Amino acid sequence: MTAKEVIAAIRNVPDFPIPGIQFKDITTALAKPECLQWMRDEMVRRYKDLGITQIVGIESRGFIVGPAVAIELGAGFVPIRKPGKLPAETISVSYEKEYGTDTIEMHKGALNENDVVLIHDDILATGGSMMAAVELVKKAGVKKIYTNCLIELEGLNGRKLLEGNGVDFDCLLEIEVDE
Ligand code: AMP
Repeated sequence: MTAKEVIAAIRNVPDFPIPGIQFKDITTALAKPECLQWMRDEMVRRYKDLGITQIVGIESRGFIVGPAVAIELGAGFVPIRKPGKLPAETISVSYEKEYGTDTIEMHKGALNENDVVLIHDDILATGGSMMAAVELVKKAGVKKIYTNCLIELEGLNGRKLLEGNGVDFDCLLEIEVDE
């Protein structure tokens, strides 16, 4: 399996959820065992020697490959969710979206000062969601934060936003935003 073959397995859905958006649908790649394994193995290869203790997944597509990688790394898995979904006490961060604001939550006490964290999501677009997740994990007070997405949409400056804020970012696949 090559990165090119995995990209070819990702379905592009034009005008979803609104006109003008080229939606990258990873479900077609996830359904192919060899693509799913490639995503897991490629992440494990990149992160196995960094002492990761927790993978923090962003709802909801960060919950798919994230836990499989956590098991391989001997790490735990912590979810970041939309408001009102987590049952115990939470910490939260609100951030500006194109239209209005959004809030994300994580359980209080889910991470500690010794944790080396990998925050994971499926796609990096403008980087707004990942930057908010970084702020949330910072609030929890951990030792080190890495961030990763399966796909980086090039041309939206998400990486610039993260790296400009000193965030360590890596992605498995790069796709032009209009492709
Ligand atoms: P952003 O905060 O702009 O980086 O957006 C990232 C989040 O929105 C991720 O959780 C993605 O799953 C989703 N997303 C943004 N753009 C797309 C797209 N073109 N196709 C699929 N998902 C997207």
